[in-house]
This record gives sequence, C-alpha cells and structure tokens, in this order.
Amino acid sequence: MATALITGASQGIGACIAKRLAKDGFDIAVNHYPSDSDREKAVAVAEECRAFGVKAEIFSADVSKFADCETMVKSVKDTFGSIDALVNNAGITKDNLMARMKEEDYDAVIAVNQKSVFNMMKLVCPVMMKQKKGKIVNVSSVAGLYGNPGQVNYSASKAAIIGMTKTIAKEYGRKNITCNAVAPGFIHTPMTDVLSDELKAKMLDAVALRRYGEPEEIASVVSFLVSEDASYVTGQVIEISGGLSM
Ligand code: NAP
Repeated sequence: MATALITGASQGIGACIAKRLAKDGFDIAVNHYPSDSDREKAVAVAEECRAFGVKAEIFSADVSKFADCETMVKSVKDTFGSIDALVNNAGITKDNLMARMKEEDYDAVIAVNQKSVFNMMKLVCPVMMKQKKGKIVNVSSVAGLYGNPGQVNYSASKAAIIGMTKTIAKEYGRKNITCNAVAPGFIHTPMTDVLSDELKAKMLDAVALRRYGEPEEIASVVSFLVSEDASYVTGQVIEISGGLSM
C-alpha cells in the first residue's frame, strides 16, 4: 500500500486532499499544527480517511521547524514503511499593504509557507530515493504567479515555491521523483471565509467561471499529479482558478 503525507491537513484544502487520496487507496499521514484544536480536527479527518478502508494516522509538527519535520518524517516512515506521495499544503496569511506590514509578519509567512517546503522535501526526498520513486505536490497560489496587493509576504512565499518545485524536479528527475505545484485561485475554505463580502464580489469579477472553487476541485488535480496517470509530468505549475488569468 502506498502512503501519502499531507501537511496542514486538519482543515480546508489539506483535509480535503487527505480524504481524496484515501479514496484513491493511499494510506494517509495527516499532519497538523501542534495545538489541541488542530489535533481534534486531525483526528476527525483521519477517521474519515479510514472509512475508505485505508490506514490513517495523525502526526503533530510545526512544519516551519526543521526538527519537528525530522521527527515527523521518521515517525511516518516507521508507522507506514514508505512515503510515496508528499503534499506540502500547510500555509498561513498575514496580509497588509507593505507600508504597514510588520517585519515579523513577513518572516512568519515565509517560514510557514516557504521554509516548510524546503524542510519537508529535504527530509522526504532521501526516503523516496531509496524507494526509487516518489511524487511531490506543492501548494502554491495565483498570488505567487500574478502578485496580489496586501500580500507581499504571501506572494513571495508562493512564488518561491514555484522556483523550488522546478529545481527539485530537475535535481530528482533521474531518481524517478516528480515534483509539481498547484496554484489555486479563490477557494472556499476557512482562509477565505474571513474576507469581506465586498472583496469577495470584487474578486469574482475576474474569474471566468464566476464562482469560488471548492477544495475538492484542488484535491482532484492533486490526485492526478500523485497518480501513475501523471508519470511523465514534472516541474509543472497547474493553475486551478476558474480562469482567473485569462
Ligand atoms: P486553511 O484552512 O487555513 O488551512 C491551512 C492549514 O495549514 C491549517 O490546518 C493550518 O493550521 C495549517 N498550518 C498552518 N501553519 C502550520 C504549521 N506551521 N505547521 C503545520 N500546519 C500548519 O487554508 P486553506 O485555504 O485550506 O489553504 C491550504 C493551502 O492552500 C495553503 O498553502 C494556502 O496558501 C493555499 N491556497 C489557498 C487558497 C484559498 O483560496 N483558500 C488559494 C490559493 C492557495 P492552523 O489552522 O492551526 O493555522
């Protein structure tokens, strides 16, 4: 049985990806931020994954911290025996126009959104190399492709993920490891629920399909990218935005 490790999987897009990959037949490692509320939600996600007849366990780690990731990766490997797919999904926002953005809010977003991807890929790639196969999907954003006012920290982190994805695809291609990114647009999740109605309406004006995406519509593309159907796809960024960029 193949195993998928999804970071930040206690809610939103990550939880949805976990359930979709469980449905696809992967055993699931559900990473959650080390807090009681995240743990509680992760337990429920793992339970929903098990309903598909696969194994699922939760793993607490702040993925911005290398030592946390090291302990988690070892523990996932010990529990399941392999790590076949890695989905770097954990992310935060701390939005403000640059003139008002605090340095610590810049650093925090870079640490969680960008450094975590380095931490996880550095630790999981050796495991995948030994297995002689592996699939990595990094969750970027349209903000990383086109920029977004009020998100200089977030768009920097998400643009960096694209460069990292292409680099790792080139470094590890010969080892039969693929590395791709998805760039979601405006998706219904707790992250976007907090936006004002006015901002939501303004955003939708730019979307060809004139609606928000659903987390399931991100999960289905990730499902493809970690499947054998995508065996010759690497170093790519797939925008999932309902036609935002046209
Ligand atoms: P979400 O509902 O806030 O979920 C993000 C998850 O990551 C949360 O469970 C969060 O835990 C976890 N997390 C945050 N920091 C972490 C850390 N240091 N270690 C481990 N886990 C951590 O957001 P979402 O909308 O599902 O977003 C998922 C991914 O998609 C993110 O990378 C986001 O940038 C990206 N994305 C989202 C949209 C969108 O429209 N929603 C669009 C483009 C890209 P806490 O709740 O404790 O913080």
